[in-house]
Amino acid sequence: MLPHKHNYHSFFDVDQHLSEMGIAAYVDALINDVVAELPEPIIIHLQTCPSCKGNAIAIYLLEKKQKEINLKKIFPKNTPFSQK
Ligand SMILES: [Zn+2]
Repeated sequence: MLPHKHNYHSFFDVDQHLSEMGIAAYVDALINDVVAELPEPIIIHLQTCPSCKGNAIAIYLLEKKQKEINLKKIFPKNTPFSQK
């Protein structure tokens, strides 16, 4: 899930904020409920940087919404046998 778990560097951008990969790792962890397993530098940064956290939460909500839409496609709302 986190292929470069020991390479914390790739999770951060040159500007010291989370890179796309860092954000993606956090979003992934949120979705799978394993935030505590994230590399510590990511957790610490998110605790101190509202900007990165805001980005991540926005993406997370978007992905969650997307998932719900997909679920609705698979299971359309109650389709009784007779709809008359
Ligand atoms: Zn940041």
